[in-house]
Amino acid sequence: MKYDVIIVGGGASGLSCALTLASSRGRGWQWAEGRRYLVFDKGRSDLQKAYLKNVPGINSLAGVEILQRIKKQIEDWGGVDYMEEEVVRVEKGDGYVYEVESSSGKVFHADHVVLACGFHGFEVKGLSLDIAENPKSPKPGRIMIKHKDYQIDEGLFVVGTLAGLSSHFTSCAGSGVEVAIEILSKFAGKRVVIHDVPED
Ligand SMILES: Cc1cc2nc3c(=O)[nH]c(=O)nc-3n(C[C@H](O)[C@H](O)[C@H](O)COP(=O)(O)OP(=O)(O)OC[C@H]3O[C@@H](n4cnc5c(N)ncnc54)[C@H](O)[C@@H]3O)c2cc1C
Repeated sequence: MKYDVIIVGGGASGLSCALTLASSRGRGWQWAEGRRYLVFDKGRSDLQKAYLKNVPGINSLAGVEILQRIKKQIEDWGGVDYMEEEVVRVEKGDGYVYEVESSSGKVFHADHVVLACGFHGFEVKGLSLDIAENPKSPKPGRIMIKHKDYQIDEGLFVVGTLAGLSSHFTSCAGSGVEVAIEILSKFAGKRVVIHDVPED
C-alpha cells in the first residue's frame, strides 16, 4: 500500500508531525483530501518516563498522558494509520518512492518518510545517512542524523532529538510541525499555515 507520508517513530516529534498533517483535512482544501499517513511506533518514547512541568501552557502532566492526548487529537482529524511495529528498513526506490519494511516483514511505500526515532540509536537499514554524536545532549552516546532544515534527501526528513535538537518536548514537537508544514506546502503548491479560530 502507498502512503503520502510514513513517519517512523510515534513520540513527541513523530506524533506532532502526524497531527499537523491530519489537521489539513476537512477544510475544503482539495489538495489535502484523500491523503493517507502512516505512523510506525515501537512504543519506547522518552515521554513514557517523563513528568512534564515546563511545557508552555500545560500544567504538570505525565508524558504518557500527553502521548494519549495527541493520539486522540490525531484520531479526531482522521487519515492516519498506526502500526505498533518497528521499522527495520527504509530504501529509496525509483522516482523517490520510499519502501518501508516493518519487523514482521510488511512492506509499504511512501512519497515522504519522516524519521522520528529519538536519539538513543538508529537500527534502520537501507539508507545512506550521516550519523553523528548529538551535540545538544549532556549524556554521551546520543546520536543525530545530519540534515539541512530537517531534510536529508528528496522526500526524506528527520525530526526531534534524532535531528539533533535538545531533548525537550516543545522543541521536538515543533520540528515535527515544521516538517509537516513543508510537506503540506508541497502538496498545495504554495505556503500553507493551519490556524483555527473559536467557532462562536
Ligand atoms: C525521564 C525523562 C524526563 C523528561 N522530562 C522532560 C521535561 O520535563 N520537559 C521536557 O520538555 N522534556 C522532557 N523530557 C524529554 C522528552 O521526553 C523528549 O525530548 C521527547 O520525548 C523527544 O521526542 P522525540 O520524538 O525525539 O523522541 P521520542 O519521544 O523518544 O520518540 C521516539 C519514538 O520512536 C520510536 N522508534 C524508534 N525507532 C523506531 C523504529 N525503527 N520503528 C518504529 N518506531 C521507532 C521509539 O520507540 C519512540 O516511541 C524527558 C525525558 C525523559 C527520559
